[in-house]
Amino acid sequence: MRLVSTSFETHPVVAKMLVILHPNTDKNSLAFQETWNYLSKLPNVRIHEHSIEGTEQQLSELYLIGDTSKLSFEEVANLPAVERVIRIYHEFRILGRHRDDARPASFEYNGVNFSQDNLHVFAGLCAVDNPTSVETIMKALQANGQVCTRMGAYKPRTNPYAFQGHGKSCLHYVFELAGKYGIKVIAMEVTHERHLAEIDEVLEQCGRPTGVMLQIGTRNTQNFELLKAIGRQTTYPILFKRGFGITLNESLNAAEYLASEGNANVIFCLRGMKSSFGAPHRNMVDFAHVPVVKRLTRMPVCIDPSHSVGTREAAPDGILDVMHSTAQGIIAGANMVLVDFHPQPTHALVDGPQALLLDELEPFLEDIRITHEAYQKRCQLFQPKHALNSLAPA
Ligand code: PEP
Ligand code: MN
Repeated sequence: MRLVSTSFETHPVVAKMLVILHPNTDKNSLAFQETWNYLSKLPNVRIHEHSIEGTEQQLSELYLIGDTSKLSFEEVANLPAVERVIRIYHEFRILGRHRDDARPASFEYNGVNFSQDNLHVFAGLCAVDNPTSVETIMKALQANGQVCTRMGAYKPRTNPYAFQGHGKSCLHYVFELAGKYGIKVIAMEVTHERHLAEIDEVLEQCGRPTGVMLQIGTRNTQNFELLKAIGRQTTYPILFKRGFGITLNESLNAAEYLASEGNANVIFCLRGMKSSFGAPHRNMVDFAHVPVVKRLTRMPVCIDPSHSVGTREAAPDGILDVMHSTAQGIIAGANMVLVDFHPQPTHALVDGPQALLLDELEPFLEDIRITHEAYQKRCQLFQPKHALNSLAPA
């Protein structure tokens, strides 16, 4: 008798099938009709369709859900519109990485490629306070070859009387300044469906000088209605933060809500777990989960050292804990770093105590470059054929 089971074990009895169609399959084509007729008549099997609009091609995935145990793998694979069939062994159907699953672990947004094989830094303001701070940060980012940033306009706060973010009123200058300094992607948290509409409206009014990655914060990890609403749109990719008080499995299931509604351009962010055992850090740093998320899913993995560590304390080696934990995530293969900077942390309206200073930006990026190079060397050591991927600024 087994007494212990992990929540990640495979369930061959309920295995489902993923049918990948040839790229750009026309729904009016004979091949599609024939394939659809066969699949839709299967008893006790439901089809969940998922489309992926790529830059060059349109991909269709058909998930066969229900009693697929008696289906002939070969017969389905031989249908005229079918390119490949994959058996699904765990619950993250779309974002998951399944056996023999060669689907890409990457996506492109606004000219920037996000992948499980590269690395981007999103340094910026936890909360937008005024145009001067925004411009100072963006200027420094451009001077350091960066095209991504973080900017909080909608802040979920523990205390109802604390500053809640400037909301829609700051979006114009944030987007215009981003365009001025060549920023292509801004990670921006949304806490309500309405914020998505506001971002879209203001970006459109400004002539889309930049792009936005919608951030779901840790407090909303399991806000399923928000996830469904954000997942229904495919204009913006999503930065999804793990829940600070739930299991990794529960957070990955929640991320799958986004994909199940249509948007699989999701980056999964580790940001530490709420636990007094993490003290004196703000949270228990969880960057050892970077390789776990990459193994279980095709999502690029982000680390947020600022909200994990939460202080500007340094070790006797002179290196800040925030920088040490950043290096720990990168040496384990992280693909994105979300990090708080502020020109004057003592004046920051949110999370000043954990913000890095602008003159720390250059050494921080250099530290990241060194660590990323070490990670690439580690890959070569264990997997000589692993392609070298550059620290991609764009
Ligand atoms: C943030 O990134 O600004 C933030 C509030 O993070 P989290 O949701 O991880 O607390
Ligand atoms: Mn913050």
